[in-house]
Amino acid sequence: MLERLIFEYSSEGKKGYSLPEIDVPAEPVEKLIEQRHLRKELPELPEVSEVEVARHFTRLSHENYSIDSHFYPLGSCTMKYNPKVNEDVARLQGFTNIHPLQPDALSQGALQLMYELEKYLAEISGLSRVTLQPAAGAQGELTGMLMIRAYHQSMGNPRKKVIIPDSAHGTNPASAVLSGYEVVEVKSDNEGRVDLEDLKKKADAECAAFMLTNPNTLGLFEKNILQISKILKEHEILLYLDGANLNAMLGLCRPGDMGFDVVHFNLHKTFSTPHGGGGPGSGPVGVKESLVSFLPVPVIEKKDEHFYLNYAHPKSIGKVQGFYGNFGVMVKAYAYIRTLGNSGLKEVSENAILNANYMKKRLEGYFELPFKVDCMHEFVLSGSLQKKAGVSTKDIAKRLLDYGFHPPTVYFPLIVDEAMMIEPTETETKEVLDRFCDAMIAIAKEVKENPEIVKSAPHTTPVARLDETKAAKELDLRWKGKIS
Ligand SMILES: *Cc1c(COP(=O)(O)O)cnc(C)c1O
Repeated sequence: MLERLIFEYSSEGKKGYSLPEIDVPAEPVEKLIEQRHLRKELPELPEVSEVEVARHFTRLSHENYSIDSHFYPLGSCTMKYNPKVNEDVARLQGFTNIHPLQPDALSQGALQLMYELEKYLAEISGLSRVTLQPAAGAQGELTGMLMIRAYHQSMGNPRKKVIIPDSAHGTNPASAVLSGYEVVEVKSDNEGRVDLEDLKKKADAECAAFMLTNPNTLGLFEKNILQISKILKEHEILLYLDGANLNAMLGLCRPGDMGFDVVHFNLHKTFSTPHGGGGPGSGPVGVKESLVSFLPVPVIEKKDEHFYLNYAHPKSIGKVQGFYGNFGVMVKAYAYIRTLGNSGLKEVSENAILNANYMKKRLEGYFELPFKVDCMHEFVLSGSLQKKAGVSTKDIAKRLLDYGFHPPTVYFPLIVDEAMMIEPTETETKEVLDRFCDAMIAIAKEVKENPEIVKSAPHTTPVARLDETKAAKELDLRWKGKIS
């Protein structure tokens, strides 16, 4: 049943609050707030009881999918289970009650946590230093590209172009263009990896950087990474890693050792903060020694036993975020890293890779597998066989909802026809992976035997097929009805 608007539960005089009697002299509101700031009419607010409010929002929350209720194999998003201990730690009063303008001397614990988190991320990635300021992966990319521009500028010429593979996440070209670069696309070869011959043709001294995702968005490891790095070094082109999903690399290999100069991480993916729905994220950026002087200020330093914020970096690209970034997310990532330790982090990646390969193996007989090689933490199937029977990837995604699963990422990467990008993550059990594979296989059978049931799906959700662009094109969140 579709939950009604809260206004529809309203009737005059119902109250969902109780306030104590006023115990100070009542002042007319006009004396406290200037007349011109006062509204002329009372706003129309719903009048509902406390229990109605509680039930309304509880029911709404159950009409959505979440990682705490369902398997969520959304490729490139790393929807892993987020341990609740992280939340407990982030809610410690010492963390929640500090103010960012408090003097260093009164914020030593928070500064120490940020200082140590930076060290861990530098060690995990094999880079020299890391800024924690950016609030998302995309902002990390922009920060990284601005540092690359500042670096080339300091060498005499900011350069004009940035090379990006055709399989890249859409934020990569957007970040390159926002930093003033022109995008040059490099092709993927028939194994789904960077085409080295094409790269050689496109790499020249006008290029500032190559933005690469590894494992790439097809879930494949760029095994020619050392050759790629060598081609770029010949032209002094910097190598940028979109490390939003580091889930296949933890403790197994390090971007810095592969020749990457700049890397951004998504703490809200790999390092377990709940995400989706626009909650706070964190997109730290790590750099090699040659780029350290361009990091955003303030940089967190330690002198004797004292941690402090250092603004004295004349070559810095400046601040990129209010205060120091999304601190709560940093606390969760810190708790996650400390809980797992070295061997735990390595197991995360090993199990993420194992789970993805297991599912790929179970599904490859039923769906087209465009690149027939071992994958890393995710893999991409094509719905092209089903498309020939008149059923699209979108229909399959909708049908999965009836089986109780969130669909995988669909129609990305763009280079795969009818793409389905599946990322199970390491936190799922074999039973869950099997149930999902069983559902996919059942749908493949339905496509052959009863395609209509797939094409008209979903049949069990509160709403079925929504207009996907209307909400973006006509953004209007106000209720304009009348309370009856
Ligand atoms: C998620 C993701 C991003 C963007 O991260 P946001 O935090 O959503 O801005 C960039 N690149 C890749 C490969 C991603 O998966």
